[in-house]
Amino acid sequence: MSADPLQRIRTVPASSAILLDVDGTLAPIVAHPDLSAVPPETLAVIAALVERYVLVGCVSGRRALDAARLVPVPGVHFAGNHGLELLVDGEVQLAGGVEEWLPDLRTATAAIEPIVAEAGGWIEDKGASLTVHFREAPDPTAARALLELRAIPLLNAVGLVSRWGRMSLEARPPLPVDKGSAIEELLLGRPGVHRSLYAGDDRTDLDGFAVVDVKVAVRSDETPEELLEAADVIVEGTEGLVALLASLLD
Ligand SMILES: [Mg+2]
Repeated sequence: MSADPLQRIRTVPASSAILLDVDGTLAPIVAHPDLSAVPPETLAVIAALVERYVLVGCVSGRRALDAARLVPVPGVHFAGNHGLELLVDGEVQLAGGVEEWLPDLRTATAAIEPIVAEAGGWIEDKGASLTVHFREAPDPTAARALLELRAIPLLNAVGLVSRWGRMSLEARPPLPVDKGSAIEELLLGRPGVHRSLYAGDDRTDLDGFAVVDVKVAVRSDETPEELLEAADVIVEGTEGLVALLASLLD
């Protein structure tokens, strides 16, 4: 790869795709996901990218419609729920096999509810998955230990796969769907895309890194070391990423 990996993208916008995580990448991390926002300057840069690049997409752990609400830029494509949802012409499509897991997700939610309450966390019902948030718990370390000991076994018992996020615990159906397969889905049917860039800040973004040409890590205090090691380019926080995206317009 050349000394400036971004040059590979910048020089051929008509055949390059720009793919972006949302929380911690476009939107600064805040205590509660409902308070997240993508700064207006960032939205303006994304709108300019849509004009120039063949594909601009957001690949989020949020529900697809929620990601679209945070990035209200016409022409941007969305994959949500770590690839379990795709937004197609404004309609949410579930990935194959998800539908039959919906009753198990409801069962699991009810089962872990008292444990999550005891931990001081809360459950985000994401339809095709669930996320336990404990950033706001009185003692996040104790909350995590409690969830590990008592909630994860219940999630596993119904067949769900659990995974730690940033101050959160996610549970989802055991399907071969992740941010990487979501990116492949977005690129599918676009034979004009020959290069791709993905930017993210968390462990699940490694799946996105696996399928693109240029990997951008957004560094914060909580960015996992593996992500930084796998990256071609590291930027400092969401502000660093906006500067990088703006440089793709030069
Ligand atoms: Mg993120």
